Amino acid sequence: MATAQFTPNQQRILELLQEQSQALSAQAIYLRLKQLRQGVGLATVYRALETLKKSGVIQARLLPSGEAVYSGLPYDRHHLTCLRCNCSIPLGDCPVQDLEHHLHQAHKFQVYYHTLEFFGLCQNCQDPA
Ligand SMILES: [Zn+2]
Ligand SMILES: [Zn+2]
Repeated sequence: MATAQFTPNQQRILELLQEQSQALSAQAIYLRLKQLRQGVGLATVYRALETLKKSGVIQARLLPSGEAVYSGLPYDRHHLTCLRCNCSIPLGDCPVQDLEHHLHQAHKFQVYYHTLEFFGLCQNCQDPA
């Protein structure tokens, strides 16, 4: 992944997000950098996140509360998530790679990443028929 075009602050935030397993809000990123004594103003954090997002190297997600959280790009890995026991079964292959290719062809759209999740009941949790 080419990251040379980013400023040191953007680079720092990108690396921070890539190290996290959880998505972070701008506020949380700001506090984390402060803890690391790499203090960056909150406005700078917001600006950097905007740039990183537009470059397709991080993803943003809106929480039901309206707060945006940011994370490094997901591995192209999808799961079946059981709503009852919360187990998650990883899928071996990405089922939509052909689709991504097709979208690129049809719309001249450069896809950076996608999200895809399946929810339902695992075998153990299904009521016996
Ligand atoms: Zn289950
Ligand atoms: Zn995929």
